Parts: sequence; structure tokens; C-alpha cells
Amino acid sequence: MLQENIPSVPTERESEKGRVETNNGTPKLEARIPSGPIQEQWDKCRFEMKLVNPANRRKHSIIVVGAGLAGAAAAATLGQQGYHVHCFSYHDTPRRAHSIAAQGGINAAKNYRNDGDSIFRLFKDTVKGGDYRAREANVYRLAQISLNIIDQCVAQGVPFAREYGGLLDNRSFGGVQVSRTFYARGQTGQQLLLGAYQALEEQLAAGTVTMHTRSELLDVVIVNGKARGIVTRDLVTGHIECHAADVVVLATGGYSNVFYLSTNAKASNCTAIWRAHRRGALLGNPCFTQIHPTCIPLSSEHQSKLTLMSESLRNDGRVWVPKKKGETCAPNDIPENERDYYLENRYPSFGNLVPRDVASRNAKEVCDEGRGVGPHGLGVYLDFADAIHRMGLQTVRDKYGNLFEIYQRITGEDAYTVPMRIYPAPHYTMGGLWVDYHLMSTIPGLFVGGEANFSDHGANRLGASALMQGLADGYFILPYTVPDYIASTKLDPVDVSHPAFTSTQAEVKDRIKKLVGINGKRSPDSFHKELGKIMWDECGMARSDAGLKKALARIPEIRDEFWHNLRIVGGDDELNQALEKADRISDFLELGELMCLDALDRTESCGGHFRVESQTPEGEAKRDDANFSYTAAWEWKGPGQAPALRKEPLTFEYIPLSQRSYK
Ligand SMILES: Cc1cc2nc3c(=O)[nH]c(=O)nc-3n(C[C@H](O)[C@H](O)[C@H](O)COP(=O)(O)OP(=O)(O)OC[C@H]3O[C@@H](n4cnc5c(N)ncnc54)[C@H](O)[C@@H]3O)c2cc1C
Repeated sequence: MLQENIPSVPTERESEKGRVETNNGTPKLEARIPSGPIQEQWDKCRFEMKLVNPANRRKHSIIVVGAGLAGAAAAATLGQQGYHVHCFSYHDTPRRAHSIAAQGGINAAKNYRNDGDSIFRLFKDTVKGGDYRAREANVYRLAQISLNIIDQCVAQGVPFAREYGGLLDNRSFGGVQVSRTFYARGQTGQQLLLGAYQALEEQLAAGTVTMHTRSELLDVVIVNGKARGIVTRDLVTGHIECHAADVVVLATGGYSNVFYLSTNAKASNCTAIWRAHRRGALLGNPCFTQIHPTCIPLSSEHQSKLTLMSESLRNDGRVWVPKKKGETCAPNDIPENERDYYLENRYPSFGNLVPRDVASRNAKEVCDEGRGVGPHGLGVYLDFADAIHRMGLQTVRDKYGNLFEIYQRITGEDAYTVPMRIYPAPHYTMGGLWVDYHLMSTIPGLFVGGEANFSDHGANRLGASALMQGLADGYFILPYTVPDYIASTKLDPVDVSHPAFTSTQAEVKDRIKKLVGINGKRSPDSFHKELGKIMWDECGMARSDAGLKKALARIPEIRDEFWHNLRIVGGDDELNQALEKADRISDFLELGELMCLDALDRTESCGGHFRVESQTPEGEAKRDDANFSYTAAWEWKGPGQAPALRKEPLTFEYIPLSQRSYK
């Protein structure tokens, strides 16, 4: 029975001409990676790009959806170049984008510490940290651009932490042995976003950028095969509106909220990328999600949000659990010889700074053994006693004070005197819309930046790399590649009277009417919660063939009930948060199924994707490079149809494939 619900996956074959084709005969994905040595590829690419004369720029319009780090940076920079930019956000101000929540820091290969860092080392750490499932060319470019990002942000006045002498300070994050993380206490995202916001404000004042807040993208409009606009809903009035442009950029963030409980802002969702996917944009590696090891453990069934404790805490905090199963003593009463500092013991080279996937899996393992701590046994200690002894209370307070305060407010415990309790939680999605080297999706004219694209992190993102990627995309890559597209593409004049806008708008209106008209009994949240539990149980920290098949059987049933038994209070022509949620959940119900399908298809373990059937004798993730060195890119084939799998082969010329070891 279960099998019937699982769509079959078309595989690839060699065509007679030697070209890799899917069974449907469609050509392989073209990543447009420049030729030549990796160090020169981005320079070469930029040199070969076409430019738009400054006088002609004002004739072109660009829609940027998203005003987080990636979107605000892109909109501000393209506006500064002279294009007409329209920036959209469902928030009431760009400053509320989820980027503001980022705590720990942003990586850059500045080597200010003179501890052996270099562009090449950041490149290597990121490829290795991502378990060799990222595109080498993109990662190298990211490492190169990391240097510019810090200069840009310092010039904007972002108050990065400084050492006593005035130089920018650095700390370490997981998966690396150098200190390359720039930070602003535990509020790095907030400070970076304020920098990007100021740049955006400057362009708003200059009139090059128009901001559309409380405006949610509900569809992408395709005219003659190119992205030429969007359909939005005004979240205050309910109006469904059309907007036309020459290019559409999506910078709409990640989809960890598919798990219901995650560290993401409650409103973060997948609607923009999913609707683009339904219009033809392929979705890359949807099952690659990151479970962050240091979050405050769940305390109640009714909780709707999880809170991150920044990974930077692992610089000085020591992770441990009692050696004895079912230990009931208070942590400070457990003597040293009865504690298991399991990360330090198992991974002596990296200790508490192993990458997130490794730290998360190990926490799950010790809790599964019955050695977890806290009310539900789903927690491990993160202990600062040694750090306080070594550096003094005030230094620890200066470095991490606001994080300790967050912890205290949520748990009521003082982590300066009692070890924190932490447990892994969904945090980041490495999957997203597939993009080429130019950050263009498979729909011409539709570009994707930041967490919304799949690009640079492979199967596991190293900490402090998302801010780096979002700002690299927004400030330094899209401002080259979008103009190149404009300069080299014939763009016929199109406005919102075009039939493609009328029909897409009608489809959006129908969908909204349908949602409001179901008039069933269950709240949107109840469906989301049910989906989230299945996703966490079967497509979370560990995935198995049987579990994924179970999820793939159950999700369509929940989706079916959703469309027959949903209840939305209120109408569609007013502020209606139940309607907003329901519409987003309808997309999570489709994306969740694709994530499970992708996870089922990838029978290897890699990074954040741990298939229980594929592990080494020591219980570490076991990759299968012979069969899975590719990016999975899924194609929407229509409602009720099996999606098609396309593959972008990954080759590793500069960082030879090897089994990751942090021992
Ligand atoms: C708690 C937490 C801490 C983190 N700490 C760090 C860290 O220390 N270092 C690090 O590198 N990374 C960190 N990350 C990850 C990082 O913050 C995010 O990956 C990054 O900020 C995402 O930026 P973005 O611009 O891609 O998207 P977001 O900041 O999520 O912005 C998305 C934007 O798109 C808009 N939007 C979305 N959908 C629509 C739609 N349909 N219509 C209109 N507008 C839409 C939103 O309004 C918003 O403006 C952290 C993540 C979390 C959850």
C-alpha cells in the first residue's frame, strides 16, 4: 500500500550522443562555470560580462523580493547602479527580516589572527564541511568575496567587536581550526541588517528603490519563457496586485519552518520559492537541512518556536552528559570522573568545535542511550564553569552576555552558575531553488540569492557562512550578473495588462477564495504541527527507508484533509493572519513531500542528511561518492504527478574527495 503513494523517480541515462539526459530527453543542467583556474574564474566571468550604459539603466526595472540581508543588499546596490528597483517584503519594515536573528558571526578569510587562514583554507573548510556536495567554483568565489564583505560592512559603520588595540576581533566556529568569524556580540545579524537597511534607505530617499512592505509574493509571472513579474497580496487590505519588471530576484529566506518547530522566525516560509518551482524553477537538494546542535530544548507540547543559543558558545563552553544512564543528580553535584565530555573524547582535534551535523548527531546519540538531561531527557549540558575559571566572569559576560540573558529569560536558569541545557533543532536549509554560477534559476530572468537558493553549502552549512553568502550574493554577485542578463537579453516591453498577468492573478485569487471557502473544522496550525512532527521524526536528524516511506504515505493524506477540513476565521479582503498561515502551510505540505522523496532517493549519508542505512562502523555518516556526487534538482510536473529528478554532476578538482574526519 505504502508504495502506491511514492512517486517513481525518473533517472538519468547516457544518450547516444554522450550527453547526459533524463528519461524524458531533457538536457542536463548547465551551471555556467567559467573555464580556467579556479582563482581566476570570477574575475574572468566579470570581465566577460556585458555592461549596461548608465544612461540606459534607468530604463530597466528589477523586482527584488525579500529585504533580509541578501535582498536588502541586492536592492540597495542595484538601485545605486541606477536601475528602477521594487523591493517587496511581507514584513512591515526590512528591519524585521529573519536575518536580524543571526547571533554568532560572519566568516571571512582576512587572516587578521595570522593563524594560517587564507582564501584557499576557507574554500577547503567549506567544501569539506558541506561533505563534498557543493559546487567548487561557487565556494571558491564565496571565500574570495568574504574579504570584500567585511570592508563593505566596516565602511557602512557596522560595529563589529574589536580588540583592546582597536583591531577587529575574531572567534572560531565549528568545523575549522582558525579564528575567522567576525561578530558583533551575539547580535551580528542585527548589526549587518542595519547596515544593509541604511544602504537601502539611502536608495529609497534617492528614489531608485521603491519599498513595498506588508506585500507577499504569491506567484511569479512568466512571459515567453522569462520571469517578467510577480503577483502579490497586500496583507493589510487583501488586494491581489500585479507588478511587471525586466528581472525578478528572489531573496526570500529558508524553509526550516516546514518542521513547525524551528529556530526560524515564525513567519519564515517557502511560498516564494515553491510557487516559482511550480512555474518551472528546479529545486535543488530539498532534503539538505541543518539541525543546529545548540538550541534551548523543547519544554512543552504547546510550544510553537525554538530558540537558538549561538554556536559561538562552543568556543568556550564544554559539552557533556553524565556517564550514568538516567542520572538524577544536579549537574554541579556530578563529579568530573562521572562526566562524559563526549565531543572532546571522540573528536580530539576539533573537540567541541566539530561541525554542526556531527555535534547534532552525537547529542541525539547520547540522549537515545538514555544519558540525556533535563525534563524530557532530550538535552545535553553546555558548561561554562571552566571558561569562567580561566577568563573570569566579566570576560564571559562581555563575550556572551546577551545570550546568557536570552537563556535566563526562557528557562529561568542562570547559566553562569548552572550549565546550560541544549538540544538540536531545525535551523537552516541548504536546499533551495537551483541556480547556476550567475545565481539564475532554470527560469531565465529569475535570480535567487541568500538562503532561498541551494548554492554554496552542500550537505551541511558551516556556522557563520549564511551571512557571508547572503551578503556576497546581494552586494557582490547579483549586481554583476543581473545587469549582464539585462544587457544580453532581448526584453520586449511587458506590462501588467499582458494576458500572463491576468491569468496568473486569476489563479491566485481562485486559490485564496478556495482556502477561505473550505469552512472545515481544523485550524491551519493543527495541520502545520502534524506535518512538522512527521518531518522531524522521519526527515529530521536521522532518515530511514521505512520512515521516509511512512512519511510519503501520510503527507498526501494530511494535504487532502487540509483542502477539505481547513477552517479559516475571517475573510480574504482584510488583514487575516490565519489565511496568510494557511496559504503558506499549503506549500509546506507539498514541499515536505518533495523533501522526503529527495531524502529517500539519496541512499547515502552526507552532512545533515543522515541515512541510518549508510554509516561507518563508528556510526559516522558514510557518503557514497560513486553514486551521489551530484546536486539533485527536482522538476515540478504538475499536481498529483511524480516530480522528475535531474542531476548536476559535482567534480572536485581542487579539494580531492576524502572521508571527513574531525578526530
Ligand atoms: C536564530 C538564528 C541565528 C542565526 N545565526 C547566524 C549566524 O550567526 N551566522 C550566520 O552566518 N548565519 C546565521 N543564521 C542564518 C542566517 O541568519 C540566515 O540564513 C540569513 O539571515 C538569511 O538571510 P536571507 O536574506 O536569505 O533571508 P531572510 O533574512 O529570511 O529574509 C527574507 C526576506 O524575504 C521576505 N519574504 C519571504 N517570503 C516572501 C514572500 N513570499 N513575499 C514577500 N516577501 C517575502 C521577508 O519579508 C524577508 O524580508 C542564523 C539563523 C537563525 C535562525
